[in-house]
Amino acid sequence: MLKLPIYLDNNATTPMDPRVLEAMLPYFIDNFGNAASRNHSFGWKAEEAVDYAREQIAALINADSKEIIITSGATESNNLAIKGVFEMYAAKGNHFITVETEHKAVLDTCKHIEKLGAEVTYLKAREDGLITIEQVEAAIKPNTVLVSVMYANNEIGVIQPVKEISKLCKSKGILFHTDATQAVGKIPVDVIADGIDLMSFSAHKMYGPKGVGALYVRRKNPRVKVTAQMDGGGHERGMRSGTLNVPGIVGFGKACEICRLDMDADTARISKLRDKLETELLTLEESYVNGNREHRLPHVSNMSFKYVEGEGLIMGVKDIAVSSGSACTSASLEPSYVLKALGLDDELAHSSLRFGLSRFTTEEEVDFAIAHVKEAVNKLREMSPLWEMFKEGIDLKTIVWQEH
Ligand SMILES: *Cc1c(COP(=O)(O)O)cnc(C)c1O
Repeated sequence: MLKLPIYLDNNATTPMDPRVLEAMLPYFIDNFGNAASRNHSFGWKAEEAVDYAREQIAALINADSKEIIITSGATESNNLAIKGVFEMYAAKGNHFITVETEHKAVLDTCKHIEKLGAEVTYLKAREDGLITIEQVEAAIKPNTVLVSVMYANNEIGVIQPVKEISKLCKSKGILFHTDATQAVGKIPVDVIADGIDLMSFSAHKMYGPKGVGALYVRRKNPRVKVTAQMDGGGHERGMRSGTLNVPGIVGFGKACEICRLDMDADTARISKLRDKLETELLTLEESYVNGNREHRLPHVSNMSFKYVEGEGLIMGVKDIAVSSGSACTSASLEPSYVLKALGLDDELAHSSLRFGLSRFTTEEEVDFAIAHVKEAVNKLREMSPLWEMFKEGIDLKTIVWQEH
């Protein structure tokens, strides 16, 4: 029996893997020590567990465990990376380059440093959601200190040309940061091969617990430093103070290990289901996939259904949990700024659904989702005068709407 609603909003957060919970449990009551307590075995045990988890986290991204700065999640990591570079490298320059389709945790942080005197260039994404190396190159100035481009987009799943961008940055002596929250654990991410200097990621997007994440900070070629945004006991090499969330970190480590070992098998299975979902829904007339389909995460599909009213669509698919636009902005009725940036009009942006599949998504669930969405779209169109006109061959652009 299917349990409804079916969860297909895994870009917002993932359920925890039971193996992760199992690894965490001993660290709440039995081994509750403070990892910074140097004088007794309670502290040593906690420290040992954190060290082990740090190795597991580093192994997933081909980093050294000393390069992993534990944070509360990707929002904090993005803040630490951008504000931390702004302060640490102030003498070198104050110009930052990012993209208008970034997550709010990057965009709002950039807005913040602008108020403090930074200069920020927001690159426009192409219609397929990608940016080009030429755009980055044209935006670089003598005072550019950081380029921040997300690895994969949370709304449409497109994968940016990270390796090429980082190479360009390196040749100009500019630091490269990437918000890789949606990519790490889902596709191979290698900080060495990808030339990354700073990288944000988060446990709860990869079957780990909420409230823990990391900032990768490169230690050699070049040695990167960020100014702490949280002052205190000098934890995390002085870059992020605060008593470590030991059970969370242990869970994060386990989640990384499982992703590393299961990635190929998971991807093979999940991408097949995603493709089935997409192919089936594309049989609906006037349905579109948003964003580049080739350079894309294997478990994500963002689709628009023309001549369907947005709110009606979300109400009509209430047996599946999906998102229309970013979870962070869906409380408002504003259409997704990411879809608008790609050139979609308000109507089409409103009538879009983001499907995010997971390790736990079954074929039965996908089959249900296909039938459910098809039914909702067809029903809404039956009631839509616009659809009727479209079917009659009336060019809707030629209609002059009455003001009221
Ligand atoms: C979810 C997400 C974040 C925020 O991560 P938290 O760990 O929830 O703070 C940042 N960037 C991207 C791309 C995300 O998908």
